[in-house]
Amino acid sequence: MIIDCHGHYTTSPKELQDYRDSQIAGLESHDHPPVLADINVSDDQIRDSVENAQLKLQSERGTDLTIFSPRASGMGHHIGDAAISEYWSIACNDMIKRVVDLYPNNFVGVCQLPQSPGVPPANCIPELERCINELGFIGCNVNPDPSGGYWTDPPLFDKWWYPLWEKMEELNVPGMVHVSASCNPNFHFTGAHYMNADTSAFMQFLTSDLFKDFPKLKFIIPHGGGAVPYHWGRYRGLAQDMGRPPLDELLLDNVFFDTCVYHQAGIDLLTKVIPTKNILFASEMVGAVRGIDPETGFNYDDTKRYVDAIDWLDASEKKQIFEDNVRNVFPRLA
Ligand SMILES: [Zn+2]
Repeated sequence: MIIDCHGHYTTSPKELQDYRDSQIAGLESHDHPPVLADINVSDDQIRDSVENAQLKLQSERGTDLTIFSPRASGMGHHIGDAAISEYWSIACNDMIKRVVDLYPNNFVGVCQLPQSPGVPPANCIPELERCINELGFIGCNVNPDPSGGYWTDPPLFDKWWYPLWEKMEELNVPGMVHVSASCNPNFHFTGAHYMNADTSAFMQFLTSDLFKDFPKLKFIIPHGGGAVPYHWGRYRGLAQDMGRPPLDELLLDNVFFDTCVYHQAGIDLLTKVIPTKNILFASEMVGAVRGIDPETGFNYDDTKRYVDAIDWLDASEKKQIFEDNVRNVFPRLA
């Protein structure tokens, strides 16, 4: 079985965005308080939204199941306040649930959290519990920078985050470290802000004792781990200079990297540098990069092709990447 641990509902019906637009219009005009979404979307609209996109690509590329979450750039935690973020998260997560209910063999849900800059992450616990306990989701996306490019909240190792980490440990769910849109013009969202956040989160883990306090907590750093695998020697050396334990002891029971790297040489490097047990198959389709690579004739995000092409991993190691590691990190998938 091939499990893609990183897919977003980037093709959701426009009624979802209409609701978001109405939230934003309300904020701008200051004339109506936030209201819970009442989105009228038929099952056929949901089917249409995935059948020619995610489902078609699953079958063309030979993957089976996608761990599916709301559109990441749309999370927009910087917009409005905690109530706006809560209502928007509920609307987005409910839409994921609709997809999962229609295609339970193809999708399983991961939730967006109602984070808001300056608001303690403990605030997200009720929606996390609703999604895991009531909707049957198996994980969450955690935005390390709800301000959208200005990093105004404390780092992931700060006690600020601890109530959320405690709840995730208790529920036995991992978090994918995933920022949203960038409102800082210095950082393009998918090209810079995402990579920066992936790399920054890793360094926050390296410099802290977070996993001593939360030995069962697991994070996926997506997009191939940002700059981390490429600079693995730098991180090992920094840890050594700082008197930190070796990286495998320090964090490799807790931190995992996905395969959203869109060329063969990148996947080759990832699989040579990072232990196989820490690599989870993912494509992020339909996502950040949608075109066809003229050098190969295939979509950049057809990442299964790159893993298939590696000749130094045997079939059982590839099965770890495609399935076993994903099941290990997402125990509720069982
Ligand atoms: Zn993503």
